[in-house]
Amino acid sequence: MSQANEFWVVAEYKDGELQEVTLEMLGEARKLADKAGSLVGAVLMGEGVAALADPLAHYGADRVLLLDDALLAQYTTDAYTTALAELIQEQAPSLVLIGATANGKDLAPRLAARLRAGLATNCMTIKLGEGGALQMTRLDYGAQFQRTMVCSSTGTQLATIQPGVIGVGKPDTTRQAELTTVEVKLDPNKIRTKALGYLKPDPEKIDLTEADIIVSGGRGAGGPDRWPAIEELAAALGAAVGGSRVAMDLGLIPWKRMIGISGKSVAPKLYVAAGISGASHHTGGIRGAKLVIAINNDPAAPIFQSADLKVVADLREVLPATAKRLRDMAVSDEQGGQQ
Ligand SMILES: Cc1cc2nc3c(=O)[nH]c(=O)nc-3n(C[C@H](O)[C@H](O)[C@H](O)COP(=O)(O)OP(=O)(O)OC[C@H]3O[C@@H](n4cnc5c(N)ncnc54)[C@H](O)[C@@H]3O)c2cc1C
Repeated sequence: MSQANEFWVVAEYKDGELQEVTLEMLGEARKLADKAGSLVGAVLMGEGVAALADPLAHYGADRVLLLDDALLAQYTTDAYTTALAELIQEQAPSLVLIGATANGKDLAPRLAARLRAGLATNCMTIKLGEGGALQMTRLDYGAQFQRTMVCSSTGTQLATIQPGVIGVGKPDTTRQAELTTVEVKLDPNKIRTKALGYLKPDPEKIDLTEADIIVSGGRGAGGPDRWPAIEELAAALGAAVGGSRVAMDLGLIPWKRMIGISGKSVAPKLYVAAGISGASHHTGGIRGAKLVIAINNDPAAPIFQSADLKVVADLREVLPATAKRLRDMAVSDEQGGQQ
């Protein structure tokens, strides 16, 4: 049965929980579907993951297409592309949203090439324009311009969505979705990679969009007497290090660690901003953070407007003292565990 006009979201999850970007995409797809008088479908691929159908419904899915197979237990380009391409060819939804995560950035272009479909990457919003044409907006030229792409094709359109920009809507726990189990016909011989296991990522190397905790520094953390304090706290928290544009200009972080509208949009559970003033260009990239702690010696610093916990202090005192406290707590926990 054709499901043309449906808006689909490819669900991503980690440790049994849906990734925030999946929830953000469901909200966006919901708005589109309501406007178009259509439905939201969520594609859930994996092994033994049916329990995630309920949260997908709570955040906006009308139906969940479950592809449950051992060959989908871990992400591989071949298996996910083949399974998804077949499903899209068969059901022809209007739009398929994929998170611009490490896996999503791998999957989306391969899928677009396989389907010969249009792909708009790193979108911030998607709207329905005149005559139902999709309008996909992203930032360009170092975030100085917004580019809106209009999809004129009538076939399935693909888009990746930048995590942490749209924001997660409120769940409706009374919503239910129709669960459709899709038969998976994958040939194991055509899957050229095999995942042998999952290594916990090194917080220093993890992509900031996937980090649970980020310690970020700005101009106030610049200089040899200050930046090591950022790294010391990050190590004590098991956090990734990020920074402002000035931190990048000062050579403290590479471009891919810069946070803000022209850098990464992040959605960690905890974001620590130290020596960052809080320009909108920076805070625009941390809207998805669950808890923001700001440390600044200027009580009027704008960053405090975005912070849940405001620490007016010199970061040279607060950061090393906090890191030491965390290390001491870890040692006493370890000793307690051995007794
Ligand atoms: C088109 C455009 C795009 C941009 N995109 C981005 C972007 O993506 N990301 C981004 O970050 N910026 C971006 N910027 C730059 C942005 O406007 C700000 O200039 C920048 O974020 C400021 O960086 P900062 O907070 O590190 O420095 P500052 O604004 O100089 O702030 C330093 C802060 O450190 C505090 N401080 C100083 N010493 C201490 C101390 N000892 N202890 C505690 N606090 C201290 C000060 O009180 C101050 O608040 C963009 C600008 C433009 C024009």
